[in-house]
Amino acid sequence: MPRRDFPAERDAEHPARLLSRLGLSPRKKLGQNFLHDRNIARKIVSLALSMGPPFLEIGPGLGALTDLLAEEGQKTVAVEVDRGFAAYLRGRYEGSSVEVVEADFLGLPDAVWKDRFPDGGTVVGNLPYSVSSPILLRLMELRRIFPRAALMLQKEVVDRLCAPPGGKTYGILSVYLAVLSGIREEFTVRGSCFTPSPDVDSAVVTVRFRSGISDETFHRLQAVVRAAFAQRRKTLRNAPVPFLPGGTQTWCGLLAEAGIDPSSRAETVPPDRYLALAGLACAAMRPGPP
Ligand code: SAM
Repeated sequence: MPRRDFPAERDAEHPARLLSRLGLSPRKKLGQNFLHDRNIARKIVSLALSMGPPFLEIGPGLGALTDLLAEEGQKTVAVEVDRGFAAYLRGRYEGSSVEVVEADFLGLPDAVWKDRFPDGGTVVGNLPYSVSSPILLRLMELRRIFPRAALMLQKEVVDRLCAPPGGKTYGILSVYLAVLSGIREEFTVRGSCFTPSPDVDSAVVTVRFRSGISDETFHRLQAVVRAAFAQRRKTLRNAPVPFLPGGTQTWCGLLAEAGIDPSSRAETVPPDRYLALAGLACAAMRPGPP
């Protein structure tokens, strides 16, 4: 891929000026807060580079991270849902190592990624906060194609993703990520680094998915964890489990077998116990011999 130089330092316009030049305004619904701090952009991209190419960038926006990937000549697919930004980015990165795809990341099927990343890749992005949870869930589904990610999210979300059991911040996504991956908070980013500036701070995480958790186990994990957290204030024996043959009776048996006290609450159960429960649920839900 021929390398095209992006004189980022000289060329980088402040997002406010660039938006006004392009006649575009930020849309809150799409989580459009643009990173104007070049140092933070460099730190995120250097984390991604350390994880290895090629790259999928989710939500390139005005190109704060994309410019640096293009400067490095890194093969990157950048998916942007906003038509105005996608048109601007296509012009900016024409002839470079960056391919711009105008699409909703959440609507793109696995085949698109298998085709473009036959040997896998790393995800990088300053995620649109309005849809960060669905995007994280989609990345969990795509973990075999993208086993690595460097992502910026709201600090409050990162606290939940990295939470240990026992507290109010420990929840469904904390369990999934602990089971499927190693997640690490790298650094925090002040709201003042963005235009427009959100009221909250952000943080950058790296995620490394483990191989070895099958899709079936992950599906069962989702069923048992969602049931467990459906009524956080109630004890686990009251969880709604219509998906289990034998309902609550089977559920309480499986909890006991997994070493979980049915009179405990969802937030006290460590991820490895949920994984054990998912394994037992897989067996209980498989149709028996005819
Ligand atoms: N990467 C840029 C930066 O760091 O300045 C922009 C980040 S901004 C927080 C999030 C970007 O994601 C916006 O450009 C927004 O239009 C885009 N976006 C929002 N929802 C999306 C989706 N479902 N698929 C792809 N892009 C999306």
